[in-house]
Amino acid sequence: MCGSCEDAKANAGLPANKEEVFQQVIEAKKKGGPINPYGPNPADYLSNVSNFQLIESTLREGEQFANAFFTTEKKIEIAKALDDFGVDYIELTSPVASEQSRADCEAICKLGLKAKILTHIRCHMDDARVAVETGVDGVDVVIGTSQFLRQYSHGKDMNYIAKSAIEVIEFVKSKGIEIRFSSEDSFRSDIVDLLNIYRTVDKIGVNRVGIADTVGCANPRQVYDLVRTLKSVVHCDIETHFHNDTGCAIANAYTALEAGARLIDVSVLGIGERNGITPLGGLMARMIAADRDYVLSKYKLHKLRDLENLVADAVQVNIPFNNPITGFCAFTHKAGIHAKAILANPSTYEILNPSDFGLSRYIHFANRLTGWNAIKSRVDQLNLHLTDDQCKDVTAKIKRLGDVRQLSIDDVDSIIRDFHAEVSTPLVRPSEGSALEEDVSINEGPETKKQKIEN
Ligand SMILES: [Zn+2]
Repeated sequence: MCGSCEDAKANAGLPANKEEVFQQVIEAKKKGGPINPYGPNPADYLSNVSNFQLIESTLREGEQFANAFFTTEKKIEIAKALDDFGVDYIELTSPVASEQSRADCEAICKLGLKAKILTHIRCHMDDARVAVETGVDGVDVVIGTSQFLRQYSHGKDMNYIAKSAIEVIEFVKSKGIEIRFSSEDSFRSDIVDLLNIYRTVDKIGVNRVGIADTVGCANPRQVYDLVRTLKSVVHCDIETHFHNDTGCAIANAYTALEAGARLIDVSVLGIGERNGITPLGGLMARMIAADRDYVLSKYKLHKLRDLENLVADAVQVNIPFNNPITGFCAFTHKAGIHAKAILANPSTYEILNPSDFGLSRYIHFANRLTGWNAIKSRVDQLNLHLTDDQCKDVTAKIKRLGDVRQLSIDDVDSIIRDFHAEVSTPLVRPSEGSALEEDVSINEGPETKKQKIEN
């Protein structure tokens, strides 16, 4: 490591006081140039936020989702779609899980996809011998290291774990394919045990070591600490796997990259054991905010919605309403004050640009929170012409009806069209009372419309 790296490492902790932090911000600002406040933090000198890879596990972790049953044809369709999206690795169920699992693994290996194909096995020679014969590009080995798993699952001690790991790793390496060694339930494992086993497997040339938050207990600060510590012990890449039991899976994945992990396990919609793992789409949302150029250069984001629909259909679930990017209201703006700013400059209320994903934003104007800017925009879309004052008047009518009941777009369009017809038809004015007639005519608008709607 060079001298300046050593300095950076020594200075990587928090600055001494608030004044120092303030001065750092001013200095950074003085240097000029566009700064993305959501991009990699220069203090994270090991960060892989702009250099990460995806291990896509819909066909392994996702198979453990309660609803999942993938036929061979469906697995192939999903694998091709993931490959087309641009994931770096596709992880498949262990070939020893069932005879069909083994056949499916072989079939996907034969597809000749760009993504590397991995399978996920127990740290056992019986599994390893079967795995290397399937044609995979790599094997992901896992073994439980927490006290819970050592006591209630496999019942082995750390010496046994180390011995098995060395045997399996050397065997897989002898076949010329990639090998990852991961602990299971890493955040509830003894840190000294963990670092010892990772150092051992790193020395014998494992390609990656994995940290797995198998029970979803970790928070981002714990993730940062463990990855940074591990990074100082091993030379190989670090892969991470986060379950979402406490809602931290995306944040933990991002923090792991900041701390120096390189690979993140994801699945489409996050499907997996219990409530699943870091979702592919949600992580894309996080990463494009941090480094748009890198994400766009690697992944076909406009394919995300089709990919999610494919998997949602296969496991018979709906896309959640609040899903990042593809939830039905992810780019819908409702309040009048938001709509006004969005119409002027979308970045005012959007961190993501829907067009990056082949999607459109939508201004929800059919409600009582609407504002006249949103209605004016709708008037323009309808190819009608109203002055700003007229738009404000018709907005008031829409809001009055919106106070009474839920509105549809058709309701609003009808109110606008009626209003437009009224103000653009010259009234026959028999007397000076014309102003009154005009008022009556306008005020009748919603009532007339309301009757029409009720009819
Ligand atoms: Zn898992």
